[in-house]
Amino acid sequence: MGNNDSRRKAASLRQRQIRSKAVAFAAGGEQPAFVADVMLGRLAKWLRIAGSAQEGRILLSRDTRLLVRKSVRRFIFLESEKVQTQLRQVFQSVHTASFPGVLVRCLSCNEMLEEMHREEVRDRVPPYVYKTQTQFKGCSKCGRIFWPGTHRRSVLRVLEELLPAEESGIGSEESE
Ligand SMILES: [Zn+2]
Repeated sequence: MGNNDSRRKAASLRQRQIRSKAVAFAAGGEQPAFVADVMLGRLAKWLRIAGSAQEGRILLSRDTRLLVRKSVRRFIFLESEKVQTQLRQVFQSVHTASFPGVLVRCLSCNEMLEEMHREEVRDRVPPYVYKTQTQFKGCSKCGRIFWPGTHRRSVLRVLEELLPAEESGIGSEESE
């Protein structure tokens, strides 16, 4: 019991240190890039969707032992365990209200997606999709093909909930 107690005290001390060394990120700078630590599986995936994970500049972490290290300077200490709260915190911290592109990286392997001609995908997507979609992107690594109607709509729905509608810059797609 006493052991647990001192562990909790140490953790809350680290949290205080982290909060006091956290810097504010300037508004209106270049698009921020992030790196998420391994504890953040789900959040990392969402950021990947937002097209920003790989360049890795701002460390996103809930790991207080990692964040108290001197070498860690640009970081966001995520206090919530909920991915939506984390996401909101990240966007607030870097003053971001829009996304450069949702269909930028492959959801499976994080490769940059490449534009594909409609004809190229004819035999590789369901006929209905071929008929109704005009824009396709492919992953050269795993061969998956994406189009705006697939994951984009559900991603946008989640993101729209997190951002003020008038600033989101995300068009809403209602047609199914
Ligand atoms: Zn892929």
